[in-house]
Amino acid sequence: MSAQILDGGATAKTIANDLIAEVSRLSERTGKRPVLATVIVGDDSASHTYVRMKVARCKKVGIEPRQITLPAESSTEQVTREVRKLSEDDSVDGILVQHPAPVQVDEKQVFEAIDPGKDVDGVTSGSLAAMAFKEQGFRSATPGGIMRLLEEYGIELAGRRAVVVGRSRILGIPMGLLLLAENATVTYCHSKTTDLKQQVSRADVVVAAAGRPGLIAGDWIKQDAVVVDAGYADNSGDVEFDAAAERASWITPVPGGVGPMTIACLLGQTVESHRRRHGPG
Ligand code: NAP
Repeated sequence: MSAQILDGGATAKTIANDLIAEVSRLSERTGKRPVLATVIVGDDSASHTYVRMKVARCKKVGIEPRQITLPAESSTEQVTREVRKLSEDDSVDGILVQHPAPVQVDEKQVFEAIDPGKDVDGVTSGSLAAMAFKEQGFRSATPGGIMRLLEEYGIELAGRRAVVVGRSRILGIPMGLLLLAENATVTYCHSKTTDLKQQVSRADVVVAAAGRPGLIAGDWIKQDAVVVDAGYADNSGDVEFDAAAERASWITPVPGGVGPMTIACLLGQTVESHRRRHGPG
């Protein structure tokens, strides 16, 4: 293997330590702790595992987690009502609606009920626009975490050809917007793309976000490219790690790459929301 590792686990730990200090300083001044409310609909076991992980990390840095669990058969209106209540609750700093919600729930409608000032997972249309136009707002947590990781390792993006594989609202689309904002030349690939191999093999930076294990063959990777694998399905990423690491200059491991950075971004934005809502400290 010749690639160096983009170590999301270690970077997220450093961020968490900084947040512990910041939360303690803020709480001393405000007499309150930041609060992150999570809404989870149904009993999907992977989603509950992700939420448990987020709750544990919240507690570690001094954020108070609140969990609202709704029955699997909840309607869009019922979920939206709960989210509105949290938007209006002054004690709540951040709101996360765990994705995916059951099929009968219109996620977009639910997301839009989140107060933009509390959208610490960066899922509302307002947050997407803010990412596109570099305005003040919160970033989608996974793309935001990836950008922070690239920044920590000093990866240059301006003028480089970036390929994002995936175009979901929570990951692929905001990822491309953030890369574009850093002056990368961005191409999106998706399930209807007919020349995925050609697109990937021209990329200086590849962000894989499809959730299809092994979709991206290691020998497609251009020599010295930067490879970020956000995919996670069947305990595996989207990229053939060993072969890709022979060609890449930098690569994220799965696990230990993007996952911890997603949570770090979420927690950081919750603390930032608390700071904004209670004045600078
Ligand atoms: P999603 O909503 O299912 O979107 C998947 C995207 O991949 C879609 O845009 C789809 O294209 C595209 N795609 C599917 N098959 C493809 C193929 N054969 N070739 C090219 N593109 C293809 O999933 P998501 O929520 O964005 O998540 C994507 C992956 O990231 C999942 O593995 C998920 O577990 C992981 N994830 C990880 C984290 C983390 O913290 N590590 C956070 C969020 C998600 P179409 O639009 O054409 O359907």
